[in-house]
Amino acid sequence: MVAPTPFPVFDGHNDALLRLWKAGGPDPARRFIEGESAGHIDLPRARKGHLAGGLCAVYVPSERVPDADGNWPTPSRNEALEVTMAMAGLLHRIEREAEGALTVCRSAADIRAAMERESFAAVFHIEGVEAIGADLDLLYLLHDAGLRSLGPVWSRPNIFAYGVPFRFPSTPDIGPGLSDNGKALVRACDELKVLVDLSHMNEAGFWDIAKISTAPLVASHSNVSAICPHSRNLTDRQLDAIRDTGGLAGINFGVAFLNPTGERDPSLPLSALVRHVDYIVERIGIDHVALGSDFDGTTIPSEMRDAGDLPKLVEALRQAGYDGEALAKITHENWLRVLGATWGA
Ligand code: ZN
Repeated sequence: MVAPTPFPVFDGHNDALLRLWKAGGPDPARRFIEGESAGHIDLPRARKGHLAGGLCAVYVPSERVPDADGNWPTPSRNEALEVTMAMAGLLHRIEREAEGALTVCRSAADIRAAMERESFAAVFHIEGVEAIGADLDLLYLLHDAGLRSLGPVWSRPNIFAYGVPFRFPSTPDIGPGLSDNGKALVRACDELKVLVDLSHMNEAGFWDIAKISTAPLVASHSNVSAICPHSRNLTDRQLDAIRDTGGLAGINFGVAFLNPTGERDPSLPLSALVRHVDYIVERIGIDHVALGSDFDGTTIPSEMRDAGDLPKLVEALRQAGYDGEALAKITHENWLRVLGATWGA
């Protein structure tokens, strides 16, 4: 029997930079390049699982734990600046030291070219832009340094918007919409052609962005609320808006966002993930679903240890009836189309 052709995966969200930065140690860039056993992603495991690239998040963790209602404290601007610069620097250092094995991509053409030469196609993304002030000046500097995607918020408020707190069961309709700063940020991103990621945004903010932005609506790592009613997941109306703008939802592998019971149960089978894909395909079509693993940022089904096991997910989708064309769309083509439309190249 001939083994099926592997499908390269372009993934909407990973927290490898956070993992490497948090672990500390003398040489995080080298550990990513040469591989280690910790976490979900490094270059050897990406190669093994045909993970061709993805949005690499810079995220500033909250210093303290959330309060009883699950509200996380927001980092100060100085704290955010320090951590954002450290992680962005680490991404660029990895590119330099990997000698061609990883490329910081600035266009969809860059991604396709990197995939062609089997260089990990990394997109510099920020999840929660506490480092950027109301004047937005830093946005321009970060754009020059390759920033092509940002989520205005993580699941906590900042000067731009209100991130949706983690609640289950709950709709994402918690808290007010964008501030004036947030509206200015979205307009600036539209002008600069920086993707505005809707994952972690509350529902009022989602609709404000839908009104302002001319780009396709994208939730890089969010699932279906009708299956798993977590506040982080998307309602049917939100999915419809994503379809209407030619956008996409990237399926988050986090068991807490997949499981209909909301339990963080790693024994959840991969079929639970396929169910979210099926729902989106049936509701809004095959062109609007992709992957947003959340590797190195959440608890994933134990059937998949790390990025090296991605072919198991592709196989589960194939078993569920997705043919080659559908698998290509889910694994990478939808992301490439949407990023090309957003960035204009
Ligand atoms: Zn996230």
